[in-house]
Amino acid sequence: MSRLKVSVDHGAIERNVSRLVAMAPTAAVMAVVKADAYGHGLVGAAAAARAGGATWLGVAQPDEALALRAAGDTGRLLCWLYSPELPARGLIRAGVDLSVSSLEVLDTIVAAARMSGERARLHVAIDTGLSREGVRPEGLPALLDAALAADDAVEIVGAWSHFAWADRPGDPTIDRQADIFRAALAVIEERGIALEVRHLANSAATLTRPDLHFDLVRPGIAVYGLPPVPSPPGDDWGLEPAMRVTASLALVKDVPAGEGVSYGHEYTTPRDTRLGLVTAGYADGIFRSAGAGRGPVAIGGRELRIVGRVCMDQVVLDLGPEATERAGDEVVLIGADGPSARAWAAAAGTIDYEIVCRFGGLKEKHPA
Ligand SMILES: *Cc1c(COP(=O)(O)O)cnc(C)c1O
Repeated sequence: MSRLKVSVDHGAIERNVSRLVAMAPTAAVMAVVKADAYGHGLVGAAAAARAGGATWLGVAQPDEALALRAAGDTGRLLCWLYSPELPARGLIRAGVDLSVSSLEVLDTIVAAARMSGERARLHVAIDTGLSREGVRPEGLPALLDAALAADDAVEIVGAWSHFAWADRPGDPTIDRQADIFRAALAVIEERGIALEVRHLANSAATLTRPDLHFDLVRPGIAVYGLPPVPSPPGDDWGLEPAMRVTASLALVKDVPAGEGVSYGHEYTTPRDTRLGLVTAGYADGIFRSAGAGRGPVAIGGRELRIVGRVCMDQVVLDLGPEATERAGDEVVLIGADGPSARAWAAAAGTIDYEIVCRFGGLKEKHPA
């Protein structure tokens, strides 16, 4: 029996993407499926996103793009993260659109395209203020000129950037970045380059800034039902969490008051009570920082917290003296009938993005 079960509701992913498509009526939707679809399983999540209406998929790493092609995905696909030693030939052959932030990467792509005899489709990444990927605006003209000089090998089809702080609606960096992006688009258009797609919005901007949708939006976390910004009517934008994480109670036993529990005895039973042992720990994705009364779980709808330290393979719950739970009962870590990924993020001092990547990354996924 597996220690932790991660099940993914592909129907929820499909419905979430349909909902995002409806919320961005003037733009196409690129479902971001990097990092194994935020822990939800790359191929299944990608297929569900396509079924929901995502005409584009986005990944960070070349191997993720190639895995999608190997699984039979033939739609528009953008890959944005690589160094000059990227496997450019394989990506170009596979019909993957490539992002370019520097002359070095452009050179690699041009050489690979000439070797494969196929023209590469490029999206110019512009650093509008995140200081991560992208060419800084002052470097843009030289990058464009170099790409135009190699137009036998590459074709600029897109321009994009990424927000630093879109999950704080109203933050002044959002409009500042959008202005820098628009100025960069003008520089591109001045050169007579006809862009197929201009794209800037992540989940937060897809939900809160329809004026910044441009031709394509790139939601990630919202695809998985975890909107990064609160919705005005409090309905989570009609998005449903797709991941469910469960374990089971391995042992239930009575212990007297005053017993130390788990390593370091950070918890002492305050009264005669019944303890429950869950066979999942930090090796399974439960953050060690979520011990000591923080990490939430639910058994039969009853919410409990992990007591004492999180161990490598186990955690302990104080079920209370009147507990009726039994060994074998299902323990819900994340689910509609238990805590949310956000509650886990609060318990562990992180964000729900890291929670789903972590739980999803460490366990086999079961379709639901
Ligand atoms: C991860 C990522 C996204 C999606 O971000 P969310 O906040 O999950 O919507 C979009 N674009 C780029 C470049 C990213 O790296």
